[in-house]
Amino acid sequence: MPKSLPSQAQVVIVGGGVVGCSLAYHLTKLGWTDVILLERKQLTCGTTWHAAGLVGQLRATRNLTRLAQYTAELFGNLEEETGQATGFAQHGSLSLATSDGRFEELKRGASMARCFGLEVEVISATEAQDMWPLINIDDVVGAVYLPRDGKVNPIDVTQALARGARMGGAKFFEETRVTAVHKKNGRVTGVATDRGDIEAGIVVNCGGMWARELGLMAGANVPLHAAEHFYIVTEKFDGMVPTLPVLRDPDNCAYFKEDAGKLLLGAFEPVSKPWGMEGIPDDFSFTQLPDDFDHFEPILETAMQRLPALENVGIQLFFNGPESFTPDDRFLLGPTPEVENFYVAAGFNSTGIQSSGGAGRVLADWIVNKRPPMDLWDVDISRMLPFQNNARYLHDRTIESLGLLYAMHWPFRQFETARLARTSPLHDRLKARGACFGEAGGWERANWFAPEGVEASYEYSYGRQNWFEHSAREHRAIRENVGLLDQSSFAKFLLQGRDAEAVINRVSANNMSVPVGKVVYTQWLNQRGGIEADLTVTRVAEDGYMIVTSFSSANKDFNWLKSQIPGDAHAVLTDVGSGMAMVGIMGPKSRDLLQTLTPADLSNEAFAFATSQQIELGYAHVRASRITYVGELGWELYIPSEFATGVYDAIVEAGEAFDLQHVGMHAMNSLRTEKAYRHWGHDIAGEDTPVEAGLSFAVAWDKPGGFIGKEALLGQRENGVKKRLVQFALDDPEPLMFHNEPIWRNDEIVGYITSGMFGHALGKSLGMGYVENEDGVDAAYVNEGVYEIEIACERYPATASLKPFYDPKSERVKA
Ligand SMILES: Cc1cc2nc3c(=O)[nH]c(=O)nc-3n(C[C@H](O)[C@H](O)[C@H](O)COP(=O)(O)OP(=O)(O)OC[C@H]3O[C@@H](n4cnc5c(N)ncnc54)[C@H](O)[C@@H]3O)c2cc1C
Repeated sequence: MPKSLPSQAQVVIVGGGVVGCSLAYHLTKLGWTDVILLERKQLTCGTTWHAAGLVGQLRATRNLTRLAQYTAELFGNLEEETGQATGFAQHGSLSLATSDGRFEELKRGASMARCFGLEVEVISATEAQDMWPLINIDDVVGAVYLPRDGKVNPIDVTQALARGARMGGAKFFEETRVTAVHKKNGRVTGVATDRGDIEAGIVVNCGGMWARELGLMAGANVPLHAAEHFYIVTEKFDGMVPTLPVLRDPDNCAYFKEDAGKLLLGAFEPVSKPWGMEGIPDDFSFTQLPDDFDHFEPILETAMQRLPALENVGIQLFFNGPESFTPDDRFLLGPTPEVENFYVAAGFNSTGIQSSGGAGRVLADWIVNKRPPMDLWDVDISRMLPFQNNARYLHDRTIESLGLLYAMHWPFRQFETARLARTSPLHDRLKARGACFGEAGGWERANWFAPEGVEASYEYSYGRQNWFEHSAREHRAIRENVGLLDQSSFAKFLLQGRDAEAVINRVSANNMSVPVGKVVYTQWLNQRGGIEADLTVTRVAEDGYMIVTSFSSANKDFNWLKSQIPGDAHAVLTDVGSGMAMVGIMGPKSRDLLQTLTPADLSNEAFAFATSQQIELGYAHVRASRITYVGELGWELYIPSEFATGVYDAIVEAGEAFDLQHVGMHAMNSLRTEKAYRHWGHDIAGEDTPVEAGLSFAVAWDKPGGFIGKEALLGQRENGVKKRLVQFALDDPEPLMFHNEPIWRNDEIVGYITSGMFGHALGKSLGMGYVENEDGVDAAYVNEGVYEIEIACERYPATASLKPFYDPKSERVKA
């Protein structure tokens, strides 16, 4: 270890766990050698040293799976490269299902794995027992085997990464604690340590469960919380051979791993124990937490039923160590929105070993090239909202997040903890109308409405859930009559100033030099033409624009636009979301209903589609915008918060004569799917361009001054594209698509479904997804194919269309 601390470095990495070491390794691979890693005690002393070492590869999305696949590849080669053994072995993993729902989940996962290029086998209970002879299979209905999964020794693999990084020029300093992060003008300039200061242009927070605290030192939000995490290790016993695959028994919250002739039994219990509320002790190093047999006992009991041999085996080690968890169970990666050049890789939710290789590689790439090498939105730290760093919120959510890894991943499953964080002004009124709320980004949103006599709660399944018919009724209300949607969770920003037009025009692919009162649908693109945001912009004044986007990308979109405002520009961006409720009145009767409440003329001539006016409604002045995400005539009303209930009451009262129905977010989703409206984060994101996504109509190719990403788009317009977003309808209305179902074209997998929902007006199961082909995808290629969608390992014939299935000419919207 070098003795004296350098006073300068290109990059300082804080934290010598598996993640920090992987980042150092990958930065040197990209040719950055002036890299310093600082560790307060010794490498691996935080969480890494005691991990169980499972290395699974199937993750929730294609890109996360790619990262985990890469980790396994890397672990396979590290010993040869560095001379440091890693203990990596690939004997596969076996997951058991003890219910039809779980088997469906595993089979859907198997379909997805195949689509992502992973080897996978769906097997019977007896075949599972052939692989793990000691298990009892009385209650097992089926299993899935992933032959390429493996296990590794976490300390050794971290040391191998560190050695590889040192071979590449990185310098490691143990017993060196970072005590402050220095900044100037919102940008990091270095760190202070207990051994002196280091100037650095880039600082990366790989601080594991300390990462929130390190973030606060810099003024950045890194929302994570530690929880106690348990496993036991038994004495050696017969049958524990090294070639056994890792066994997962998710219905019993347990995993089983052979460990030097012994058994390591680990738990993902549904109600976990958050830890470290008073801060993590200064002397924490290779520390174990006190055991808690009462907490572990239920897991051990069911594990004994699965593996009866356990009853006669002694327990050698009862292990309890802390690991960090995030509010949505996905890790936190990338530049923090608050502080320039301050990056994060933390909050690994008990998958830090298997994620480390991929996370280190893409973060190194992100740092060096100043952009992510692939769509990483699922783990991008900018998805987190500032309030989510609230300690009590994190504590309460962590009770649930640990168990989520093995919980049923039901479609539409809602978080049960840390609820009621953010409510619309209409919340109580909607509740009284039977709203069943779901939570997202802290918002309580009415997802569907239970009629009288029906309980407003979820009964989950992979088929039609208990709300299906109620949501269908809401859907039809909007298609045939009129419905009210509380869209208050949508984010709203104001961009104001002399240069507002120039700024927004440069950022937006569509034209913003429009008359006051015009609403423009647009994308914001990166230099590669990829879609960073998908939103509407309304010109509310000569020098003012209102931007409306989804709550889920609020933080990202706000910071994207803010970062594009030149230092000397006269343009100020303000988040005005909390000041306004937003209500959608949608459906063919929306005009008739609203006209009874306002003196403004709502006729087509006076109030055209894609325009916005300040109107009187009830006792209030509200902004009414004739725009829709459900594909019908309708208005979005932006109501100052304190007027929201009054306006709502007036609408509901007048609505009685029109049979106005309350409509939830699930219906909004089915309505937008019929109309093929894209959803950012699912159907479109940073890797997809408007040309590929079928959104060229929203690109102002010839506007003066161009826009960010134009060059890349022009290339695609001239040379064609290799993928195209296509709508699908299954011939059989019964099976449901959600996302990630493989798309087969002429007997070959060509893509996967990015979002799916049942279309109640069409009576069909719908989805959309990219059809990919190296030699190009055009309309003829799409139309000539014979399609099937694979759901839980079965293929269902599907019709493909480049146009929306519902109202392809948008006649209803413009009526
Ligand atoms: C019981 C258990 C079983 C697990 N099993 C698995 C598994 O099978 N597979 C899997 O993939 N994952 C598993 N995990 C999760 C995995 O161990 C973690 O996700 C991973 O180790 C996190 O690595 P890290 O580098 O982010 O954090 P850490 O290893 O905690 O590293 C962070 C480092 O930052 C240092 N640090 C903090 N503050 C400062 C400062 N101010 N200055 C300098 N240094 C600082 C700390 O000392 C620490 O060493 C398990 C976890 C537990 C608890």
